[in-house]
Amino acid sequence: MRALAAPRGNAEILELAPVLARSVTILGSTGSIGVSTLDVIAHARAVYGPEAFPLEALTAQSNVEKLIAQAKMMRPKLAVIGDEKLYPLLKDGLAGTGIELAAGRKAVIEAAMRPSDTVMVAIMGAAALEPALAAVARSATVALANKECIVAAGTVFHRVLSASSATVLPVDSEHNAVFQIFDAADNAVIEKVTLTASGGPFRTWGIERIRAATPAQAVAHPNWSMGAKISVDSATLMNKGLELIEAHFLFALPPEKLGVVVHPQSIVHAMVSFEDGTTLAHLSAPDMRTPICHALAWPRRISSPSKKLDLAAVGQLTFEAPDHTRFPCLQLALDCLSRGCMSPTILNAANEVAVDAFLNGRIGFMDIARVVETTLDECPGANTEAETVEGVLYIDLRAREIAETACHRRTA
Ligand code: NAD
Ligand code: MG
Repeated sequence: MRALAAPRGNAEILELAPVLARSVTILGSTGSIGVSTLDVIAHARAVYGPEAFPLEALTAQSNVEKLIAQAKMMRPKLAVIGDEKLYPLLKDGLAGTGIELAAGRKAVIEAAMRPSDTVMVAIMGAAALEPALAAVARSATVALANKECIVAAGTVFHRVLSASSATVLPVDSEHNAVFQIFDAADNAVIEKVTLTASGGPFRTWGIERIRAATPAQAVAHPNWSMGAKISVDSATLMNKGLELIEAHFLFALPPEKLGVVVHPQSIVHAMVSFEDGTTLAHLSAPDMRTPICHALAWPRRISSPSKKLDLAAVGQLTFEAPDHTRFPCLQLALDCLSRGCMSPTILNAANEVAVDAFLNGRIGFMDIARVVETTLDECPGANTEAETVEGVLYIDLRAREIAETACHRRTA
């Protein structure tokens, strides 16, 4: 967290005052997106003044040391640790600071309900669903980095959103790019939205080498520095599949208007093609602080600490079709996108379990797709629609149990 620019003039700061005064809650502040969000805020405070983006709450699941360090430096009103066993450490670490403290899953949801202007949803996995819905239900501006919650519960998410006056701003780089290119209200004139995929670390590997890939190789992403789960999803291309489902829900686009192209340089994040033959693309250096900054300041723009684009240094932008044989997870997600109902809920839950098993050395890399496929075949409810969040969580749990058994069968 460092200042990269000299403080700005008074006139600019005055003009941006309503944006800079927005209070922010970060759910998942110790993860990759959480840390980048704090970096953007620290930069804004250095450039525009120390009052920029006052923090309402920070939450983390288990990295209590990092949460303590963040809270000491960034001074939120509240710090929450998800794992209740770690509460005594949080209490010791922040004693005398005057920062309110809480612990447990309910406290994370309550943090989302506190009256901040913006809630950054940077929790990993479907665990973000209830806190995200709590923020939507109270009509906050929700900067949505987490994709699993909308994949798992797109219909329910929309229902809660329609009953509120919340604004959802996509932070996932491709969706943030699409959001910047076109207004979802105009989606009738869209011919196609194309998301780019880097292709991940195994883009050029043969199938036998991919089969033997280790967790360390899978998380070593060539362009992006991210949490372990999304890094594995990028290596299997499941990430792009989840993102197609995310785009379907965020922009109300049918599956046939959504596509993927592999673009190894990760400079173009998405393209929108219109009926008249025009295609607009969004370009930036691969740095999540750019879409995070966009979401915090929207509809204005503010200075960001992110890497700036230097096309001459990049040299070439190349594009290729995804290979479904070496990366079967993408096809599984495409099938769920077409099938709809609760199949994306099952896909997501099974994938979370399988990725965790892979990261813990319990199954091989290519087993991830097999576990997801088996779970989709065996889990009941794929063709039903959940009316409530409880209904989603029930199928999510069922799918996790089946996926666990499938992982066990692969190792037994
Ligand atoms: P990460 O693993 O680095 O961090 C996850 C954060 O969530 C941590 O702060 C952790 O404490 C918290 N958390 C984990 N489990 C939790 C639980 N059960 N309850 C409450 N909090 C919990 O993950 P990340 O890479 O920052 O990704 C976060 C989300 O953003 C994911 O949904 C990911 O798909 C999405 N995303 C990430 C990137 C990226 O560049 N990292 C890009 C686009 C989208
Ligand atoms: Mg993305």
